[in-house]
Amino acid sequence: MSDVRDLVILGSGPAGLTAAIYTARASLDPLVIEGEPSSTGDQPGGQLMLTTEVENFPGFPHGIMGPELMMNFRQQAERFGAVLKTEKASKVDLSQRPFGVWVGDPDAIEPTYLAKTLIVATGATSLMLDLPGEQRLLGHGVSTCATCDGFFFRDHDIAVVGGGDSALEEATFLTRFARSVTIIHRRDELRGSRIMQDRAFANPKISFLWNSQVVDVIGDQAVQSIEVENVQTKARSTLAVTGLFVAIGHRPNTDLFVGQLDMKENGYLVTETPSTRTNVDGVFACGDVQDDTYRQAITASGSGCAAAIDAERWLEAQE
Ligand code: NAP
Repeated sequence: MSDVRDLVILGSGPAGLTAAIYTARASLDPLVIEGEPSSTGDQPGGQLMLTTEVENFPGFPHGIMGPELMMNFRQQAERFGAVLKTEKASKVDLSQRPFGVWVGDPDAIEPTYLAKTLIVATGATSLMLDLPGEQRLLGHGVSTCATCDGFFFRDHDIAVVGGGDSALEEATFLTRFARSVTIIHRRDELRGSRIMQDRAFANPKISFLWNSQVVDVIGDQAVQSIEVENVQTKARSTLAVTGLFVAIGHRPNTDLFVGQLDMKENGYLVTETPSTRTNVDGVFACGDVQDDTYRQAITASGSGCAAAIDAERWLEAQE
């Protein structure tokens, strides 16, 4: 059985690492279970690892690349003594204190870590279209990450699905490589911010297919084309693209906490606003795992700071 730590942080995006910076400076020796790369695109460092230029994080007047920003977060947390482990929690037991966190075999009798407080910052994962062929061709033309895969589509015709900021950002970035980018959106109005819309509309390489859904991805070893259906007329057509970038939003990573932490209907964790407290005393949640409203790097970071302060005060009150 491991020693009881003051604090374990689950997740290493802007929320988890901000919580790590604050709690490390407060001498709580935080252990950050930062996650592992997965086939669905999850990575240590979170969603900014899959982003290109971040233009709206204050303090960077000329913008900064997402991965570089997360490297800075990481170095800042480590500078104050936070320990980051590249592993994934497989189970948590919040029914008694200290809380148990398992890594690896969830059926192991003893937890890997014991902690007096837990900060949950597990973020959110890209949604997929759940189409025949989509999983099979993931990494072979189907992608959720323009930064990772854009380079492979030099002079190709590609499609991006979605109408939010992610889709607009991915499409704009992909025009650096692709010959043409078609944004396929299920409505005739975009959800993304005005500035991102204007940028996409002004880009000569970007065109739009409105009121349309992708219904199949065609290709044996790699994407050769996609089948698109007009949601109003039900008319189907084939679009000859070799890349399909899916950017239709995210789902919170809360599977570990089912039956233990209160969740909204959409799976996001419930916190007692304005605090980061969950329904379990000593467990705090921050970042996208509990935010279905703002979902910005800066708001995740702010709530990570709040969780750190909440955890610190909670520990003080126990003494
Ligand atoms: P989002 O805002 O939830 O947009 C998801 C888009 O995908 C919507 O247009 C939605 O259509 C569409 N969609 C959802 N399910 C679909 C399905 N099954 N089939 C086809 N289309 C589907 O998600 P997001 O774009 O990832 O953005 C999430 C948050 O991050 C937002 O707050 C955004 O502002 C922020 N963000 C900011 C930046 C930036 O500031 N640079 C960049 C990226 C993201 P409907 O519109 O019809 O619902």
